[in-house]
Amino acid sequence: MYLYESYLKDNHQKDLLELADGLARTFSKHAEEIDEEGRFPYENFDAMKEKGYTSLTVPEKFGGKGINLYEFIMLQERIASGDASTALSVGWHLGIMLEMVDDQEWSDDLFERMARLVVDENALINRAATEPASGSPTRGAMPETRAIQRDNGWVINGRKSFTSMAPGLDYALVSGEINQSGKKGFFLVDMKSKGISIEKKWNTMSMRGTRSDDLVLQDVKLPLDALIEESEKPRDKKLPKAWLLHIPACYLGVAIAARNYAIKFASEYSPNSLPGPIKDVAEVQRKIGEMELELLKAREMMYSIAWRWVTEPDKRKGMAGELAAVKHVATNGASTVVDLAMRIVGARGLFNDCPMQRYYRDVRAGLHNPPMDDAVISLLAANAFDNHQGPN
Ligand SMILES: Cc1cc2nc3c(=O)[nH]c(=O)nc-3n(C[C@H](O)[C@H](O)[C@H](O)COP(=O)(O)OP(=O)(O)OC[C@H]3O[C@@H](n4cnc5c(N)ncnc54)[C@H](O)[C@@H]3O)c2cc1C
Repeated sequence: MYLYESYLKDNHQKDLLELADGLARTFSKHAEEIDEEGRFPYENFDAMKEKGYTSLTVPEKFGGKGINLYEFIMLQERIASGDASTALSVGWHLGIMLEMVDDQEWSDDLFERMARLVVDENALINRAATEPASGSPTRGAMPETRAIQRDNGWVINGRKSFTSMAPGLDYALVSGEINQSGKKGFFLVDMKSKGISIEKKWNTMSMRGTRSDDLVLQDVKLPLDALIEESEKPRDKKLPKAWLLHIPACYLGVAIAARNYAIKFASEYSPNSLPGPIKDVAEVQRKIGEMELELLKAREMMYSIAWRWVTEPDKRKGMAGELAAVKHVATNGASTVVDLAMRIVGARGLFNDCPMQRYYRDVRAGLHNPPMDDAVISLLAANAFDNHQGPN
């Protein structure tokens, strides 16, 4: 808990963190097996449901705990140190509720309906937005998935790739083009609907337990009210998607796990060529110090920006650049930390029974979660020109 002490603001957060800490310790025991088998960690989700973790971001008025962005990322970072795939997956689910608290895109009735599913039925939800042909939805392509209105309902056809938690999901929010109109919408799809299938495409080197498989929709019939989000709000009315900070939190969690392993290793490994453990070697100390510096920079930035989001809501509209920058700094910083940690552990880190190689593979996935590095840099440049006052 030492790594969190300076970020904890009150006892409520301490209790929440203890909950995440307990779960993360359990998850870390079988993270290796989940990765090796590339299977969905059902048991982790059962444990999170039992402890109420999967409804933490649901507002209290709908039966959840109403945790804020700052608390959300702190818990997610801790869970990711135990098992990154579980953290990223549950982060998508929890983030949907948090987004609706902040952005209020859904009607009260819809929000309550969704919240009840999460709280009372332990439902798991995720957005299915990526497609093989359109790539990352953040690039703005129109989905090839088609929704056509017919007989007082919708008929949907399409294929979604990268659908995290595919085998464990109860509902998916599927993006699709509405009536071939050039307008995009999100449809609430019950995963038990006829015409839904999952194709096991997730044969990756990273984040294997997320089971981000393909979701295939073939003539799936939905009621009219399944269209729950229609056309995007104009840019000046939109809030940045702060809930996506669960992504940097996840990969920083991986970096912390690698850092902890490397420190323990350096404290215990004592080759015959030295009078004591390698932690006394200047080069090892330098690498440890560099890891600490990277973590400090990224975490200070992430936590302070999340806190600003929570405490200064009037500034939220202008925070897109800062939020995106956190993702860039944290995911790249996390990669650096894991790389340094691997160098400390040496060739032992290459063995499959050493968690270091898993951290090294998992941390790499962060680069391909949104927003991507080039998009962050372009956004910061655009903001700089927008806000330029001229020479003074
Ligand atoms: C572990 C993991 C879990 C995920 N979970 C989900 C999920 O639950 N739901 C979901 O919907 N998605 C999910 N995704 C998908 C993710 O959000 C991205 O859509 C996906 O990783 C594809 O990103 P990409 O950059 O490789 O794709 P692409 O957009 O295909 O990009 C490929 C390459 O082309 C370049 N490129 C493409 N288009 C442009 C452009 N217009 N301008 C400039 N460069 C361009 C990119 O820079 C990149 O180098 C997940 C991804 C990962 C890795």
